[in-house]
Amino acid sequence: MGKSKPKRRMTKQRKKILEILKSTDTHPTADWIYDQVKEEIPNISLGTVYRNLNVLKEMGKIMELNYGSSYSRFDGNPKNHYHFTCVGCGKVMDVDEPIHVEINHNIENKMDCNIDHHRMEFFGQCSECKNE
Ligand SMILES: [Zn+2]
Ligand SMILES: [Zn+2]
Repeated sequence: MGKSKPKRRMTKQRKKILEILKSTDTHPTADWIYDQVKEEIPNISLGTVYRNLNVLKEMGKIMELNYGSSYSRFDGNPKNHYHFTCVGCGKVMDVDEPIHVEINHNIENKMDCNIDHHRMEFFGQCSECKNE
């Protein structure tokens, strides 16, 4: 079967956006990425940045972290991993913890289904905020 994905070119803009995302682990918003890209490609628009982020996501090069009503954040690491969000300062950090695949197996057994992946989010106070 195999899903056929439309072929996408790695344009200069797209490459730059990916480069910026890969160079940070702060899980930035599109606005932050826009500010960075603008320094190298001054005539780029925010809409173009959004479009390219979507394409990169479709290509499986990046991950979008959607937090409901607040802004999406983007991750240059497309492999499934857990995140911790500090409710004090709002930063989003990678959690150094392997993906617990056994949860998938438990649910597959209980529901007679196939699980591709799961999301798990951690919220609390980071090491700086908890001491304030
Ligand atoms: Zn914090
Ligand atoms: Zn991450």
